[in-house]
Amino acid sequence: MMNRFIALALSIVCISFAEAAHLELPRSDAFAITQQLRFIEDSDATLTYQTLPDSDTHWEKNNDSHFNKGYSRSVWWLDLTIHNPDDHGHTRYLDLSYAVLDYVDVYIYSGDQLKEEYHTGDMRLYHSRPIDSNTFVIPLTWRPGETLRITYRLESGTSIQAPLTLWEPETYASKDAYSNIVQGFFFGSTLILAFYNLLIFFILRDRNYFYYASFIISLPLFFLTLSGQGYRYIWTDQIVLNSHAIPFFLGMSFMFSGFFTRRFLNLRALSIPTDVLVATFALLGGSVAVLSIALPYAIAIKALVPIGLCACFVYLFAGILAGFRKVPSARYYLIAWICFLVGSIFFALSKLGLMPLNFITEHAIQFGSIFQAVLLSLALANSINVERKLRFQAQADTLVTTKRLNEQLENRVHERTQELEVLNKQLKVLSNTDELTGLKNRRYMTTSLSEEWKRSARYQRQLSVLLLDIDFFKKVNDDYGHQIGDQCLIEVAKLIYESLRIPSDQVSRYGGEEFFVMLPETDAAGALSVAERIRSNIEKHTIVVDDTRFPVTVSIGLYSCTPETKHSVDYILNCADIALYQSKEQGRNRVTLYSEDNISGNSVEAR
Ligand code: GH3
Ligand code: MG
Ligand code: MG
Repeated sequence: MMNRFIALALSIVCISFAEAAHLELPRSDAFAITQQLRFIEDSDATLTYQTLPDSDTHWEKNNDSHFNKGYSRSVWWLDLTIHNPDDHGHTRYLDLSYAVLDYVDVYIYSGDQLKEEYHTGDMRLYHSRPIDSNTFVIPLTWRPGETLRITYRLESGTSIQAPLTLWEPETYASKDAYSNIVQGFFFGSTLILAFYNLLIFFILRDRNYFYYASFIISLPLFFLTLSGQGYRYIWTDQIVLNSHAIPFFLGMSFMFSGFFTRRFLNLRALSIPTDVLVATFALLGGSVAVLSIALPYAIAIKALVPIGLCACFVYLFAGILAGFRKVPSARYYLIAWICFLVGSIFFALSKLGLMPLNFITEHAIQFGSIFQAVLLSLALANSINVERKLRFQAQADTLVTTKRLNEQLENRVHERTQELEVLNKQLKVLSNTDELTGLKNRRYMTTSLSEEWKRSARYQRQLSVLLLDIDFFKKVNDDYGHQIGDQCLIEVAKLIYESLRIPSDQVSRYGGEEFFVMLPETDAAGALSVAERIRSNIEKHTIVVDDTRFPVTVSIGLYSCTPETKHSVDYILNCADIALYQSKEQGRNRVTLYSEDNISGNSVEAR
């Protein structure tokens, strides 16, 4: 199908005739006959089809495959005469394929007689067209040997162009259907892309998706207006809307593509001047689009063409700059713009006749824009990917940092715990130690005795305890003072400690000038000998502090047993205390073994 149309389009030949009046009805399915036109410029719009001069001297020959008079306030009269040399009739469609002309009036004469007239144009309702079509198509019917003169009156705020082709009706209908399918495909694709990206915008709230969707929807709407399909299918008979659609959608597409470019390439961070330049063109495009609602078409479009041309190159430059600065996805952006530009250039060249008019060149701009739309969509997706990677990286970095901090924290906690353990140990030692003598204190002794008591009870072992009290210590204090008293306590403690030989034996300061000795695994005989050794070592010793020298003795109460669980620690302390009391009673400086049989106890006198 496509090849058929490429061949068909290529077969549109431009045939040159010396005289317009002598054009014979061409045999081919499609003929471009713009070259055969003659025309009159009616600057004051004073002529009517009845007052038109007939003589060739008033008409100018076109002699060009194009008829383009640019923006003109004049009325333009175009004239064609086609003769049917055959002895049978013919029907053809004459297509004036420039959909945006405001007023198109057609008068068809057979000889001098006005046979038919049509008044159409895009400033008139759609059903003013004799044939349902995007452009202005009129049906022509020749009787055998008949000559028809077709006269056009063109008046338009758009540029005055008249690309005229004579079509075999069926061929035209196929071409029209095919062209609609192609346009529909392009428009449908961009519409889906646009809606899809709008949805992404609503979900992600990233304005870039909005700019992108608006851009890819504005551009096809512009093309649809240009091709006449917008007026034919979408905003049918909305004359005011249609007359502003071209500059509006064109300006909007410059604006949204500019906003998209700025944000997508992050131009503000890249280069302030480029950012400002892009923003300027985007705002210019947007301003003209808005003003176009009030401005005459010719002024709006004359402003937009240079803005658009510059904008394309400025946006392209921004892409190149971003590419050099290694902005992620910049290459997708660049390729997208290049596709669009190449498409536009092909389209422009084919319209100017510098390239053959075929399927590719005809639809180059649509191809370009659809590639652009797809690539930009890809670029957006890629930028999400890049962002996601960066986020993952950031998360991984955070994880590493957190782990490191945790380790540091753990180390610190460990160090602190160790320090605390050491301090705890020191504290424990301190809390268990008597400050003056350096011996274990009473608190420690009580716990230790309790444990030893239980252990000995369980294993049925002998346990002996001694309670020692310095004799007449009040007198020492009174005679020599408290400081010397303290010194005496230190020396006695040392003497007791040194008198013990087995490591499991424990001595502690019980309080004041009283000491406690615990002898595990020791029977009464063993304990008596230890007590006697202590007593005698102290008796033999002389306390010497500076010039002061004096002796000291201790009285000792001894209790020895195999502990019974029914008794408590207090019980043995009490027994030892009773024995000590007996030592004191019996004259001091002696050891008394507590005995239940004889509460008064056996005491070992000092020798
Ligand atoms: P006794 O032979 O009956 O035990 O006579 P004593 O003088 O030792 O009598 P007592 O046990 O009643 O007196 C103990 C004295 O020990 C009372 C107190 O002044 C003295 N003392 C208690 N603790 C300390 C101490 O830490 N340092 C000094 N310097 N004296 C103490
Ligand atoms: Mg005492
Ligand atoms: Mg005493």
